[in-house]
Amino acid sequence: MDKHENIYLDGTWVLPHGDEWHDVIDPRTGTPTASVRLADEQDVDRAVAAARRAFEGAAWPLPDRLRALRALHDRIAERTDEFADLISAEMGSPDQFSRQVQVGMPLGTLATTIEVAESYDFDEPLGPSFLAREPIGVVAAITPWNFPLHQAMAKIGSALAAGCPVVLKPAELTPLSSYLLAEVAHEVGVPAGWLNVLAGRGPVVGEALARHPDVDMVTFTGSTAVGRRIGALAAETVKRVTLELGGKSPSVLLDDLSTEEFARAVQTSVGFGLMNTGQTCAAWTRLIVPEERYDEAVAIATATAAAVGPTLGPLVSETQWQRVAGHLREAVEDGAQVLHGTAEPSLPEAGYRMEPVLLGGVTQEMRVARNEVFGPVLALSTHRGDDDAVALANATPYGLSAGVFGGDAERAVAVARRIRSGTVHVNGLNSNRLAPFGGYRQSGNGREYGRLGLEEFLEVKSIQPPAPQEN
Ligand code: NAD
Repeated sequence: MDKHENIYLDGTWVLPHGDEWHDVIDPRTGTPTASVRLADEQDVDRAVAAARRAFEGAAWPLPDRLRALRALHDRIAERTDEFADLISAEMGSPDQFSRQVQVGMPLGTLATTIEVAESYDFDEPLGPSFLAREPIGVVAAITPWNFPLHQAMAKIGSALAAGCPVVLKPAELTPLSSYLLAEVAHEVGVPAGWLNVLAGRGPVVGEALARHPDVDMVTFTGSTAVGRRIGALAAETVKRVTLELGGKSPSVLLDDLSTEEFARAVQTSVGFGLMNTGQTCAAWTRLIVPEERYDEAVAIATATAAAVGPTLGPLVSETQWQRVAGHLREAVEDGAQVLHGTAEPSLPEAGYRMEPVLLGGVTQEMRVARNEVFGPVLALSTHRGDDDAVALANATPYGLSAGVFGGDAERAVAVARRIRSGTVHVNGLNSNRLAPFGGYRQSGNGREYGRLGLEEFLEVKSIQPPAPQEN
């Protein structure tokens, strides 16, 4: 079993002050795959001091930063297999998914970030004045376990492009890919202090970062409950906080889809809802179909869930497995019907697999219509026309992502405009890496990716023109 005793701080691997060891469990087997020594508050002080020295020391000019990010991109691409195997071992995603999505997606996002920063006007004329956009300062990045490399890269790529040093605290469950990332950053010559990586517990290292007076910004992805806590701690020093939190995203099918379009829409929605075993913040976990087409939807959705099930990896941990099982119990108590799978799963002898579960007849009063499950559980509900569909789509505290499918694309876009969420896909899952990603309401604030993602890490200074000299 691999042992990771050191943290990556100020350009070197050093022994942390924290002395607690933590096992990283392979969710495919339920057995430890590595052990890491966790940092503590004193290590946070050291890491933040290193980042601050980097920020205030010799300049690291934009062309050099972009060169380093390009080299980072290329080296991660070369080491794809290593990253993918590590991510499969720490969070359980199947081999192909790890290569294509867990590693492929961050590479795509990083390439776009570099492109955007290359052509970005950091100085913008405004009448006789100009706006100077400057790095906000030291950034703390706190990331979850579901897309460990992607969540880390989305933050680090934009922060470094903007000129901000980063202290990264990965999730307890998945520190290994972040340590490999630190190794690659070191290899490609990211200067000392610009990237620091500490494995540590959320309530210890995460809170110390959120509270730290020398951290200028916290960028967080994870649960709404922790996001709220981070926001409250960060408020003491009025630091900038961007939060990418949970969701309960809907896919809305309108009544004018042809039989074929309807089938494709259900298949796409179920596929996206189950992606990464449902452990995806943007997953469409509520399928909202016209009342008169419910049976048609059930037939296609159950067939799709049956086909997709065997391709999915396990849930990330036993805790997550038990949480999902708890949501299933609640759903049945509230009157949801089980259309596919079982609402009483039994924990496998090894690892944390769970078959997908499709729940039917879900109404707004049921807890499963509102609460994020973060597992392979989809809820099927019905609507009575566009107004009702919009009301249901908006009837949760979240607003991260949504899908709208309609025979008439213009009408579908009109419905998309009425949905209160940061992303709405119309008639498919097309995505554009330049487009920002983030939440309305309790799905968070701030945006990631592309130009808006870069700007989160920038302050704006108005340089007013010199006043006319008096004679
Ligand atoms: P979490 O929010 O508890 O953890 C995310 C990160 O925050 C981890 O790095 C964790 O160590 C850190 N953290 C935990 N407590 C903290 C604190 N008090 N202060 C600062 N940092 C802290 O998420 P989780 O336990 O890994 O998963 C629980 C739920 O979060 C899931 O069921 C799901 O609803 C949601 N989630 C959302 C996303 C997303 O992409 N939006 C990703 C993972 C989990």
